Amino acid sequence: MNCNLCPRKCNAKRTADCNIGGFCKSPENVVISRADLHFWEEPSISGKNGSGTVFFSGCSLGCVYCQNFEISHKISGKTVSITQLAEIFKNLEEKGAHNINFVTPEHYIPKIKEALEIYRPDIPIVLNSSGYINENQMEILKDYIDIYLLDFKYMSGNRAKKYSFAEDYPEIAKGALDFAYRSQSECVFDSNGLMKKGVIVRHMLMPLATNEAISVFDYVTENYPNAYFSMMSQYLPHGKAEKYPEINRRVTKREYEKVVNHILESGFENCYIQERTSADDKYIPDFR
Ligand code: SF4
Repeated sequence: MNCNLCPRKCNAKRTADCNIGGFCKSPENVVISRADLHFWEEPSISGKNGSGTVFFSGCSLGCVYCQNFEISHKISGKTVSITQLAEIFKNLEEKGAHNINFVTPEHYIPKIKEALEIYRPDIPIVLNSSGYINENQMEILKDYIDIYLLDFKYMSGNRAKKYSFAEDYPEIAKGALDFAYRSQSECVFDSNGLMKKGVIVRHMLMPLATNEAISVFDYVTENYPNAYFSMMSQYLPHGKAEKYPEINRRVTKREYEKVVNHILESGFENCYIQERTSADDKYIPDFR
């Protein structure tokens, strides 16, 4: 098939095992890097038992500093059939996962829908996306998604272009948020504090980008007051970050505190704020 699924619209030729000319490099067959219980999402997602994460290989955004560079920029992992993918959902549910969490699923959305048609878990389904996802993609899975866990990485098209080759990212991510909020405009939790439905918007603070983090926070809280905001501070210079000296370092304490103080002073309460100590390689899943 010729693929124009995501905002890249590469018109790439995707065959069962090959992708010719596509940004995401992903073949038509689904390749996954990891499927297991995961404990390092937001507390309302990971809970006590863990989130049933399925990490898809490849990525249609492809940030130069990606902490999962090995799986997002290379197609490493295991090819699974649609039936096997449905079995993975079932196995994770049987292991006690609080939800099924599709991590970077954008380039496989039609296949994921096919798997959900075979087996729809009786626990919430989470769409965990880079935010670079268009309305058509979201529409395909709309009837299945309970929780949108969306990144909002950049307010600046220049930074999006420089670090993710996607100048249109801010506009696309705003559209994705609009869609998510229309679909799940209230956050619903159970008696244990686990999210059953809703929207969480994530922003990862990067070096030299405090103003961007603040403008993302202001935008999200003004436009989506019932959503949760998750301020992530786990940035570490991975991937090709060494080629970009200005981001080839950790976020400083001063940068972190500037953004955290802004959030706290805003009085907005639907918020997760990651500790600065979260910037540690030990929190990156083992994809071997
Ligand atoms: S899903 Fe992959 S091949 Fe298809 S348009 Fe997006 S980047 Fe290109």
